Amino acid sequence: MKAAVFHAANQPLQIEDVPRPVVTDNHLLLRVLACGVCRTDLHIFEGDLPLIQNPLVLGHQIVGEIVEGATSDRPLGMRVGVSWIGGTDGTCPFCRRNEENLCDNPAFTGYTVDGAYAEYALVRSDFTFALPPAIDNTHVAPLLCAGIIGFRSLRVAGTQPGERVGLFGFGASASQAIQVLHRWKCEVYVSTRGEAHRTQATALGAKWVGTENDKPPVELDRAITFAPTGAVVLSALSSLRKGGIVAINAIHLDQMPAFDYDKLLWGERQIRSVANMTREDARDYLHLAGEIGIKPQVQVFPLDHANEALQAVKHETANGPCVILP
Ligand SMILES: [Zn+2]
Ligand SMILES: [Zn+2]
Repeated sequence: MKAAVFHAANQPLQIEDVPRPVVTDNHLLLRVLACGVCRTDLHIFEGDLPLIQNPLVLGHQIVGEIVEGATSDRPLGMRVGVSWIGGTDGTCPFCRRNEENLCDNPAFTGYTVDGAYAEYALVRSDFTFALPPAIDNTHVAPLLCAGIIGFRSLRVAGTQPGERVGLFGFGASASQAIQVLHRWKCEVYVSTRGEAHRTQATALGAKWVGTENDKPPVELDRAITFAPTGAVVLSALSSLRKGGIVAINAIHLDQMPAFDYDKLLWGERQIRSVANMTREDARDYLHLAGEIGIKPQVQVFPLDHANEALQAVKHETANGPCVILP
C-alpha cells in the first residue's frame, strides 16, 4: 500500500510503498476513506513529543471501511471512525476507575501505533466508532479528534447549560465546540489572533469576538484555551469569575509563565489540562454532532501532498481543518 512515512523530526514524510498490515486478533483492517490532520501530528513531526515508534505513519482522525477482521457488530463494509485513543490495557488503576483517557499503557493512533496517512490502517476493533450517517467522509474526519477533544474540554471545564463560556483560539476544535455550546444555550465569547478566525467565530454566532489581547466584557464561568501557549491560559484565567475553570485543550504547551496566585487563582478558580479522551466522549460527541449536523469546512489534500497539509496546519493557511484522501 501507499503511505506517507515519518522517519525523523522535521524531515518531510516519504511517500512509500509499504506492506499492507496483516489482521490480528481483535483488530480490523480498514480501507482508509479520509484522514484528518491534527495539530498533534505537527507536534510529533516537529519533535515536540518524544519519538516512540520509527518509522511511523501519522494520522489519528481516521474514517475507514472495514475490509478484513469483521465481526457481527463490526460487519464487512461498515464505515467507522478511529481517534487518538487507539487502545488501553483495561486493567490499570485508571482504566478500573473509568478514566481510560489516563491509562498507564495506552496506544495512541498515529503515534505509538501506525495511523492512516496511508491507504489502509490496522485498528483495534473495540476502539472504532459508528459515524453519523448524514456527514460524509471528508467532513466527519475533523470530528474525530478536534471535535471529540473540544467536547471533552467542555466537560472538563464543567460547562453547564446557559453559562458564559470563553474560547481562546478558534481553529478546528473551537469551531465545533461553539456549536455544542449553542446547543446548550451558552453564551460564547471568543478571543483569537487570526482575522479569518474572528470572522468565522462571528459567523458561527459568538456573542462577542475579540483579538487575543482583548478581555471579554463579562466574567466567564468557563474558559477553554486552544493555543499551545501558557500566556493564553493566564489570559483565560484572568477572565474567570470566582469558582470558574479553565480547561487547556493542548497536548503541548510552550511553558506556563509565573503568575500572581492572589489575583488570578484565588477564589477557587481552577486550571485543568485535558488529556486524551475516553470512548464514551467519542460516542457521545459523534452522536451529538450528528444531531446538530456539525459539518466543518475542510481543505482536502491527496496523500501525495501530506507534507503540504502539515505545513498548512503549521502556518494556519488552510481554509478550515485539513483532510488527507488516499
Ligand atoms: Zn489502563
Ligand atoms: Zn488529535
